[in-house]
Amino acid sequence: MCGIIGCIGSNTNLISKVIEGLECLEYRGYDSSGIAFIKNHQIQAVKAVGRISDLKQKLNFEIDSSLVIGHTRWATHGKVSLENCHPHFSKENRIALVHNGVIENFKNLRIELQAQGYDFYSETDSEVIANLIDYYSQKYDHLKAVELGCSRLEGSYALAIIFKDDDRLYFAKKDAPLILGKSENFNFIVSDIVAASSFSNEIIAIDDHQYGYLSQDKIAIYQNGKSISKQFVKCKIQNDQRSKGLFDHYMEKEIQEQPSVIRRLINHYVKDDKFSFGPYFLKKLRGANRIYIVACGTSYHAGLVGKYYFETLAKKETEVCIASEFSYHLPLVSERPFFLLISQSGETADLRKALKKIQELKAPVYTMTNVVTSSLAQQADGYLDLMAGPEIAVASTKAYTAQVTLLALLAHALNDDSQTIKEKFQSVIATEEKILSKPNIFKDIVTQKIAFSRSCFYIGRNLDYLLAQEAALKMKEISYIQTEGFAGGELKHGTIALIEKGVPVIALISQDHIEEATRVNIEEVKSRGATVITIARQSVAKKEDDIIIPEHDPLLSPLVFAIVVQYFAYYAALINKRDIDKPRNLAKSVTVE
Ligand code: GLU
Repeated sequence: MCGIIGCIGSNTNLISKVIEGLECLEYRGYDSSGIAFIKNHQIQAVKAVGRISDLKQKLNFEIDSSLVIGHTRWATHGKVSLENCHPHFSKENRIALVHNGVIENFKNLRIELQAQGYDFYSETDSEVIANLIDYYSQKYDHLKAVELGCSRLEGSYALAIIFKDDDRLYFAKKDAPLILGKSENFNFIVSDIVAASSFSNEIIAIDDHQYGYLSQDKIAIYQNGKSISKQFVKCKIQNDQRSKGLFDHYMEKEIQEQPSVIRRLINHYVKDDKFSFGPYFLKKLRGANRIYIVACGTSYHAGLVGKYYFETLAKKETEVCIASEFSYHLPLVSERPFFLLISQSGETADLRKALKKIQELKAPVYTMTNVVTSSLAQQADGYLDLMAGPEIAVASTKAYTAQVTLLALLAHALNDDSQTIKEKFQSVIATEEKILSKPNIFKDIVTQKIAFSRSCFYIGRNLDYLLAQEAALKMKEISYIQTEGFAGGELKHGTIALIEKGVPVIALISQDHIEEATRVNIEEVKSRGATVITIARQSVAKKEDDIIIPEHDPLLSPLVFAIVVQYFAYYAALINKRDIDKPRNLAKSVTVE
């Protein structure tokens, strides 16, 4: 969630660099922002509630500084206010720091520091860290003070720290992402790979419990009091992947990118009609008698489709667990389990907690992620790269497609069924491209039948029900229309009470064997006044259906139908003038529990 950044170097224009970095972090979701910099051996700060544009209005870009830190906050402790905005200062402004994460023992630390004469001006957990490091810096050098201060913290943190009488930029990390990099005239730290790639493609991903400092010409990393060396790696994100191109919103650009995401995955994971997952990985997966998928939000919905594939294609028992519930109630673990964590960012806090539990069980665990340098990718036994490219819009679209595609490939691989796989996906790609070329059809339907409603329903059976859940999430997260996805057969067990005149009910019909049953549900809601919109695959469609999807392998329908429901959400948000790429209260990667 949110982000931190720090730049140090001979380039005196570092305030603009930090702002540029904060703008790249915006997509992660935030409610306020701020920067601090050193000028004439004093630390100065500028903070603003709202958008980075509000911060920019308060800033004087003429000021030269060669050491600057910045923050976008997604409040966890204390309201959204200027006092709680980062950077936070220690006593007498000796230290300023920015913090991502949550300090669980901050109350005790605050009491302890108060007894030592420290006062507090904010409600945040982060302010405690500044004073704690200050406390140790009275006796020790700054590096040691950072080490000792952090050793007292329970919880998660990525920190960028400056001292008023020091020309180094200090950092520390535990359970929150942090990356170092070097650019032409400056070195930097940042919490997000997408932001890092805007400065340089030479990066180092910092691991938990590492800390250190950057100076103009040096990067020093420590762990347990000892200096360690780490190599720079090339970051694969290209600049053009981060721009909106011709689109008004990242979300639409990312919806349109979905065929190329599928193409990329097929080219990578299927070579000469053979799967290339690596024999070791497949052996482990094959050897398992039950697969456990652990995920949240959209990734959870992809996991439900994955379960369907594993069980129908590969006859492999599969359980899908909500990550935030996992630690409270572990599933009954089979004799030979295999855990698959699905996380777009690879930093999801709920999954990191689940990973710890799984590692206690000593069971094989892999991460399916879009960020291979992420904590989850590095800490699990291995990872599968989603290869979706940076997803900037908060509402996930192409990452969902990548997840479902990869899960389908895995299920086919377990079944040793590689012969027709390319053909199947090529027909999906061709169908998607047809649909993507005419989005205005969706706009018209949404304008006439959905956008002005207070609530909305998706219904479907079998695979369509699994997509209905994702469709509903997409609609509510960006349009704020209350939407639910239901199994068609469940309506009459309660939900039908909510159907009244004009309520939009969107019915998904992609599978042959459920067509008739879903059409019965359509009649049930129609006769109670619902405004029904039907989306049907060609061979099960009737001419009165609103959207007819060209033929493709019905097993892969969640991929094709996903595009329609994503566009429905997109247009409902557009018509209602919502902030499509940055919906309220949401953050891109949820790094707090
Ligand atoms: N827990 C801190 C706060 O509420 C940091 C939140 C963040 O990561 O933005 O200020």
